[in-house]
Amino acid sequence: MSGANPYLTDVRLALQATARRFALDEVLPLANELDRQKKDIPRDFLRRIGEMGYFGIMIGREYGGMGLGVFEYALITEELARAWMSVASIIARGNGMGTQARDRQRRAELLRRSARGDWIGAAALSEPGAGSDLANVQCRAVRDRDGYVITGEKRWCGNALAADFISLLARTSEPGAGESRGRGLETFLIEKPRDAFPAGLTGTPIDKIGYHGITTFHLVFDHLRVPADAMLGRREPAMRAEAASAGGAAAPAREDGRAFNATLHGLNVARVHTAARAIGLARGALEDSLAYAQERVQFGRPIGEFQAVRFKLADMATQIEAARALIYSVAQRCDGGEPIEKEAAMVKLFATEMAERITGDAIQVHGGNGYTTERAVERYWRDARLTTIFEGTSEIQRVIISDRLLGRAR
Ligand SMILES: Cc1cc2nc3c(=O)[nH]c(=O)nc-3n(C[C@H](O)[C@H](O)[C@H](O)COP(=O)(O)OP(=O)(O)OC[C@H]3O[C@@H](n4cnc5c(N)ncnc54)[C@H](O)[C@@H]3O)c2cc1C
Repeated sequence: MSGANPYLTDVRLALQATARRFALDEVLPLANELDRQKKDIPRDFLRRIGEMGYFGIMIGREYGGMGLGVFEYALITEELARAWMSVASIIARGNGMGTQARDRQRRAELLRRSARGDWIGAAALSEPGAGSDLANVQCRAVRDRDGYVITGEKRWCGNALAADFISLLARTSEPGAGESRGRGLETFLIEKPRDAFPAGLTGTPIDKIGYHGITTFHLVFDHLRVPADAMLGRREPAMRAEAASAGGAAAPAREDGRAFNATLHGLNVARVHTAARAIGLARGALEDSLAYAQERVQFGRPIGEFQAVRFKLADMATQIEAARALIYSVAQRCDGGEPIEKEAAMVKLFATEMAERITGDAIQVHGGNGYTTERAVERYWRDARLTTIFEGTSEIQRVIISDRLLGRAR
């Protein structure tokens, strides 16, 4: 990457350089040690990420954040993911997530906490029967005197135990005939102590093949009681604008199925973020492959002198650069306030599929050594494999893109 890139202002280049140093000096050694032990990002290190300001990239300066946009969020995410996808992921659980309180003072307090990494959340959207088809959420929230009683199951909830809160999508009523399937779905903010589940909630870790820095849980809600104000309410237009400028998911004005629509809207930024994670992983794979191709000697020559290997490296670099050009354009347009649903799906699809291929190619370049846990390439590959699945599978991105191309309403 060079300073001649029109997207990369001096300020952005400085941010990138700082994040790169932090990632290579502090995150990478930790990842290489802890990921193979399937250990979470340590609490002390979360504090360190907070000191770097990365939980507050998109939160206003008045709340202690950096006051930046999706572009810078993606730029820093690529650097962090190049070292450890789990660290690049955890910053998305700050950055204004779960700060949509009705009360202004409370909201300001939560934004401050979020910016310093003192209000880190977990998202409980998916269920055993609601993955790609998120509108099929069955988890119930039933009004009961002074609050709600929540019953049901959630699957794939990352960071649930370590979180300060869980943002839960639950059903309060059934949609009527002809109504949007998202109607009756609401978001609830469940406050909890770190490293404990409240009464009425149990969590079982899911044993995954990668993404070990964040433990993923299957959650069972058994009559969990929450106060009435745990349900995130309708936001006034001024609040929506504020949230948007803070990088939060601005709820669309439509009230019919608004929580569901806001969730889908939030997924646009999440998809750009996932694309950045994928690019970071692919870059790690390329950089390690470049080093290995020059150090590994076969037939009396470094393997990087064989055309088969050189061309693979050339293709890897070209595909990464193409994904990066796309993400810069999409992130910039997002910050400019353009609707980016189709483009966010495109960059998510392109970058994650690219990362899966390239991390696989990196294993090939490393030969047998690539198929060991002694090298980081296998970790990049395991993590990249996930990026084509979560935040909407590649197939769902294609559904979104083709719906838009064909003028079908979503
Ligand atoms: C490690 C991990 C972490 C996760 N973290 C979280 C989290 O923190 N919070 C959270 O809420 N969720 C999380 N998820 C859930 C994730 O978003 C879902 O796994 C994802 O949306 C896919 O849903 P599914 O697994 O139920 O697959 P399914 O929806 O069952 O899909 C199975 C296959 O069918 C295809 N398919 C489904 N519908 C269609 C269609 N209409 N057209 C074409 N193909 C289709 C899919 O593309 C896929 O190939 C996580 C998942 C994983 C694996």
